[in-house]
Amino acid sequence: MPESLHKLYIQVAVALPISGTFTYTVTGELVGKVAVGKRALVPFSGRKVTAYILRIIPPEKREGLKDIITVIDTYPLFPPRMVEFFEWLSNYYLYPIGLVIKGALPTGLNVRIPDGEKMPSKGWLDRVGLLKMVFITLKKGVIVDRSLFDRRRSPRNEDEFLEMMSKKKEVSLREIKTTFTNGAYLVDKWIKRGFLKRARRPVVRDIADEALFISSKPPPLNSKQKEVVEKISEKLKDNAFFTYLLHGITDSGKTEVYYHAVKAAKELGRQSIIMVPEIALTVSMASLFRARFQDRVAILHSALSKRERYDQWIRIAKGDADVVIGARSALFAPLSRLGLIIVDEEHDLSYKQEEKFRYQARDAAIVRAKLSAGLVILGSGTPSIQSYQNAAIGKYGFLAMPKRILRRELPDIQVIDMAKFERSSAAQDESIMSPPLKEAIQENLAQKKQTILFLNRRGFSSLYLCRFCGEAIRCPNCEVSLTYHKYGDNLLCHYCGLSIKPPNRCPACNGKELRPFGFGTQRVVEVLGDLFPEARVERMDRDTMRHKGEVQQVLKRFMQHETDILVGTQMVTKGHDFPNVTLVGVISADLSLNYPDFRAGEVTFQLLSQVAGRTGRGNVPGKVIIQTFNPSHYAITATKNHDYTKFFSQEIALRQQVNYPPFSLIATVRFLGNSKTKTEKIAHHIGVKIRKSLKKQAKRKNAIEILGPVEAPMAKLKGKYRQHILIKSRTSRYLNQLLKEVETFSVQILSSSGVRMIIDVDPYQMM
Ligand code: ADP
Ligand code: ZN
Repeated sequence: MPESLHKLYIQVAVALPISGTFTYTVTGELVGKVAVGKRALVPFSGRKVTAYILRIIPPEKREGLKDIITVIDTYPLFPPRMVEFFEWLSNYYLYPIGLVIKGALPTGLNVRIPDGEKMPSKGWLDRVGLLKMVFITLKKGVIVDRSLFDRRRSPRNEDEFLEMMSKKKEVSLREIKTTFTNGAYLVDKWIKRGFLKRARRPVVRDIADEALFISSKPPPLNSKQKEVVEKISEKLKDNAFFTYLLHGITDSGKTEVYYHAVKAAKELGRQSIIMVPEIALTVSMASLFRARFQDRVAILHSALSKRERYDQWIRIAKGDADVVIGARSALFAPLSRLGLIIVDEEHDLSYKQEEKFRYQARDAAIVRAKLSAGLVILGSGTPSIQSYQNAAIGKYGFLAMPKRILRRELPDIQVIDMAKFERSSAAQDESIMSPPLKEAIQENLAQKKQTILFLNRRGFSSLYLCRFCGEAIRCPNCEVSLTYHKYGDNLLCHYCGLSIKPPNRCPACNGKELRPFGFGTQRVVEVLGDLFPEARVERMDRDTMRHKGEVQQVLKRFMQHETDILVGTQMVTKGHDFPNVTLVGVISADLSLNYPDFRAGEVTFQLLSQVAGRTGRGNVPGKVIIQTFNPSHYAITATKNHDYTKFFSQEIALRQQVNYPPFSLIATVRFLGNSKTKTEKIAHHIGVKIRKSLKKQAKRKNAIEILGPVEAPMAKLKGKYRQHILIKSRTSRYLNQLLKEVETFSVQILSSSGVRMIIDVDPYQMM
């Protein structure tokens, strides 16, 4: 037997913060079990760690190569094609490849066993098996005869329960329990009577249980949609990489276009990924696709439990899904016949992961499509400056849907100059709710229409201020002011989560006049209560949405018009389709406008346009009222005039002037430490070295500009002092090269310094 048949060489990545890959050998019966995409357990400096098999490679003549211990998976977790993608991610974002893969896979799959300990028990492997669920079924041949029971002594909803059981024949216990509060009792009773039976079996959990909106029959497309779908279908036939930017205003019917694109890809034998910016939006997107593709739809997002995610993952890996829908992490769906990636609301900032592995899922989607010769559709009503510029210079194809569906009119947008309304204490509420907004809400209520009020700050007040010395109470960890939360009566830090009781006396002057100042969503709700006591008001922000499913519940109540006014942060601005909403109020447009960030204008324009798009989606035209102290800012006037191109031309000119993206590529090198002086010293030291290493190549020096180190705008966060260096580069190659040098030479400088360095490529977080 040739040696290659009883001994294999494999290249693996280990799930540890170590760059590079490693070679192992495989012998004996494991040879038949090894495959790219499976995990192996390998010996690694005295430990046993999880490794991902990247390649089977030709024999190496090196001494001391070790055998793997075992192969963990029966099915590969990702197709061989994805290896190159992982490698690209690792290289571009300077993140260890093993951790890139670990982050891409469903959580809970990683094992590390210290030497000397036994192999994991069988239970451990079972743990990642399929989820089992209890189902209640109507026994064969049984007919529910109501005369069989005494109706006077039965709960009122028993009829309804029995009717459901005889209609559906089989329902999960979970669904019964969520539909009927006394579900467990009803089930027991009817099992005892011999009508129902209980069975436990493995399922791929039907996540669309929580479906909100279902429309199974696609409507006939309008001419614009048809035109766009035709172009997309044509492109798909090329089987080649291409990117389209689809500029479709809100309510132009993009979802139907996505559906037809996925269908066209499916007909060509290729699979699709649809990414949406919010977990909550996957639910409505998924229920539409479920209604039309049945069980060929898989869902991936981080709010699924470990098991649910694993189940979905394995289904996808086995080729049981034609389309995967999810938030950012759907990018990693292990599809082997991927042909289409749709990024909905491509401008959304949530596509950037801001911890550990800092990648931009939209940008990475383009690379993944390139590696699989697939098509990308970036859809948005307010495209990012970057994508629109790429379309403008011909790098992307451009598709436009400039009109709302069924010729519904664009909402009328009124901008209110808040400088007109004094902040006298008598008129305090007017700084929150100007008279025109008040009247509009009143009128809307009278007409039984619904209202959305948007304010991008949760809590009751923005500051807790001393009336005597003007000192605001600050977070000792973050040096930002604390927000007063009336429910719970505490002061909260929105950055580190610190929560304290409001002090009686000012820590600075010992004065006794401490008051909340400014306002957040809680305060808005309170003002509404005073002004419109009869209105049903709900609040949707991170404080009220702590638990799984709560977002859906609030949206469902609003959808069913059990709520008149929905007050919320960013969460209310995105994607939802409520036909009865005819008024949107922006309580303050100034918060995002004043961020020290080159994208402040872009973000404000997007936020305002998105929230404005929530109104007038039914038969009655909508109205939007924007309150601001900057009524003539171009981001606000462009929103008012629904003029994206005007906004784009002003914004792009500014970017060019200051040489920010898309005219340059940027990266930040951030330093975090417990000691202020130490952090400054290290940042300075590394800054000097970066400049020195830049000088080595004249060409590169001309292409790169270095700013800082300086103190970050958020100078202290979660107890850490922060410094940063900004690098601007004309080419991505030079930038990548330089960052790698930085990474290498800083290892020694940082070691045991107590300062951590974070490299953020294409950063969005500038504070
Ligand atoms: P967008 O994502 O562009 O904001 P949606 O895809 O949510 O818009 O569509 C807006 C509304 O129009 C939805 O209620 C959708 O069902 C409806 N719709 C889409 N296309 C059509 C069509 N061709 N005919 C009738 N209604 C449509
Ligand atoms: Zn804090």
